[in-house]
Amino acid sequence: METSRQLQVPGIGTMGASQILHNQIWITLSRYRTSKGNNLIVDKSIDFDQVDRESNWDDQIILHTMLSYLISMSMARAHRLPFWRSDGVIMTILLHMGPVEFLYYWFHRALHHHYLYSRYHSHHHSSIVTQPISAFIHPFAEIVVYFMLFGIPVITTILTGTASMAVVFGYLTYIDFMNNMGHCNFELIPEWLFSIFPPLKYLMYTPSIPPGTAQVVLRGKLSKVARAIAFGLCQRGIQIWLVGEGLTDEEQNKASKGTIFIPFSQFPPMKIRKDCFYHTTPAMITPPSLHNLHSCENWLPRRVMSAWRVARIVHGMEEWNVNECGESIFNIDQVWEATLHRGFRPLCVSS
Ligand SMILES: [Zn+2]
Repeated sequence: METSRQLQVPGIGTMGASQILHNQIWITLSRYRTSKGNNLIVDKSIDFDQVDRESNWDDQIILHTMLSYLISMSMARAHRLPFWRSDGVIMTILLHMGPVEFLYYWFHRALHHHYLYSRYHSHHHSSIVTQPISAFIHPFAEIVVYFMLFGIPVITTILTGTASMAVVFGYLTYIDFMNNMGHCNFELIPEWLFSIFPPLKYLMYTPSIPPGTAQVVLRGKLSKVARAIAFGLCQRGIQIWLVGEGLTDEEQNKASKGTIFIPFSQFPPMKIRKDCFYHTTPAMITPPSLHNLHSCENWLPRRVMSAWRVARIVHGMEEWNVNECGESIFNIDQVWEATLHRGFRPLCVSS
């Protein structure tokens, strides 16, 4: 009884803190090896975009800590745990080797199916050169599933009264350790992955608008914005697929190879064609004078702002006391001139 400990706020808080420290050691170690130019590292460094994208690696620890606290509050058996129980340790090892590894494998395979990959898992694999912490960079839903998965042995030992501090701390530290180690090698993504996820160079392809053609294909819900863009492009003699909200997979499949999809929607369309090119949603680079802007949308680069946000700012700065109610629309050229004048620049996706 003397050795029992509270697995409440102090215990769970300590776990979260030790996870942060553990991961930080891995990050520091890998940065040190990168700067030393150790031959184990592929001759390619991580870029700033990746550093930014992966800078929120501690979010999942905070989430885990909160979820763990909620669960422990509802389980009286989790409140006082001994330091060590051999039966619980063996149970954890067996549960990990059996159901957890099995479910993890199939869950990961499912994540590489196009449907889930494009919606969730591609975020993790967008890091070509991994750093240890890349292991923990996942969308919210994925993190919750991992939490439930790796919670199986812990919860089982608690329910069977075989849990110990060694199991809870030891198992979670083991998972973190394996994840960090598995991603610290700076391995390039294996060949087969490129067949699932098109190489970054294709994603970074510069969509150029072919001159001398005169057809505009409009897909998705038609709005006055769509009509205004179509009208503007027709006058300039341009051929392109402009896609709005509600673009279906069938419609995308009708596009000929090499088609450039330019969305005029708020959210980007699902990229189901690998032989076509997708421009970003309408967006502009913000003026350097605009401070404290990190990012606007998670599908746009740093300091790039969606056009409708830009419009709101320009509208305010120009003090236009008018509105675009109903079908009315402003003079596009005048708005464009004002926007450039305010320091916003067109977004050129470079190859
Ligand atoms: Zn994967």
